Amino acid sequence: MLSRRLAVLKAYRTETSDAEVRLSSNELPYDPPPHLREKALRKLSEVSFGRYPDPAALELREAVAEFFGVAPENILLGNGSDELIYYLSMGVGELGDALLVPVPTFPMYEVSADALGRPKILVELDQSFDLNLQDILKALSERKTAMAFYSYPNNPTGNLFSRDRIESVRDRGIFTVVDEAYYHYCGETFLRDALSREDTVVLRTLSKIGLAGLRVGILIGKESIIAELNKLRLPFNITYPSQVIASVMLREGKDFIEDSVGKVIRERERLKREMEAVGVEVFPSKANFLLFRTPFEAKALHGELLRRGVLVRDMSYMPRLERCLRVSVGKPEENDRFLEALYDSLKALSP
Ligand code: PMP
Repeated sequence: MLSRRLAVLKAYRTETSDAEVRLSSNELPYDPPPHLREKALRKLSEVSFGRYPDPAALELREAVAEFFGVAPENILLGNGSDELIYYLSMGVGELGDALLVPVPTFPMYEVSADALGRPKILVELDQSFDLNLQDILKALSERKTAMAFYSYPNNPTGNLFSRDRIESVRDRGIFTVVDEAYYHYCGETFLRDALSREDTVVLRTLSKIGLAGLRVGILIGKESIIAELNKLRLPFNITYPSQVIASVMLREGKDFIEDSVGKVIRERERLKREMEAVGVEVFPSKANFLLFRTPFEAKALHGELLRRGVLVRDMSYMPRLERCLRVSVGKPEENDRFLEALYDSLKALSP
């Protein structure tokens, strides 16, 4: 009775193992200061639990708009950017047109294409994890393609794709989604294009700046594009607690967010240096995580780290990422725990 599509789908993999030090999901390691938490909770207690939330999430949309320096009309909110990736996959091009996904990358682009039964073009990145323009253009010439997803910086490789390559693909008439989930850790953006062109949108999220539990994703684009995609949105997709708490944090937590992001960026560089000092190959990162490769099987190293209380993500199942794992940048003391565990694990695995 169920769709044949379901037979080929796999439930989304997350890292659920319990660990003292969790560095597997690229969250911000800091919690907002107590006075902000208290204010948010006070406001939350004034809300009736029995009523539906504001379907348009107007107050939050205004707070998000101000935070990102755009107008509320340029914004569509989602239950995480994951939901917005679904809406884009539903709404851009016809369902028979392909979606272009450079791999390895964030798996949700493929997941949403598969859920809808849309054809996808998976093109492997080049040696330096940049877009392989030649292969992409060849694939585009073979199959009608509507849209491309770019994680910018790319999860899990950590780099930014060349802007001119993204533009060259877009010039072939491909609707361009620039997923800037890690924007705060690099400052590079396609925002100006998203506000001025009908073929480009930008995705942002609150998940990487301290609010992953609230599930708030943000699509930024021209008003005309936002109004059309809004027709796909489920009516009450942002819960009241999320609307209330996120509004307080964005309006009053800017210093906390800026400070925390600054600390993570400094720790990212320290962590990279110290990992390299013990002989690990670490790829340059513009995000809040580091991809690294060791001579040992990734699964074995993952297990050794976990035995020492540290959870990271095994990335070796992805193309081009043999023996690779990804570690999120944590608080200094968490990073120290990781470094110690890494050192001991490598020693344990050495013949
Ligand atoms: N895009 C990228 C590139 C990501 O890495 C992630 C989270 N890992 C997301 C989107 C999902 O963000 P959200 O929590 O807003 O659904």
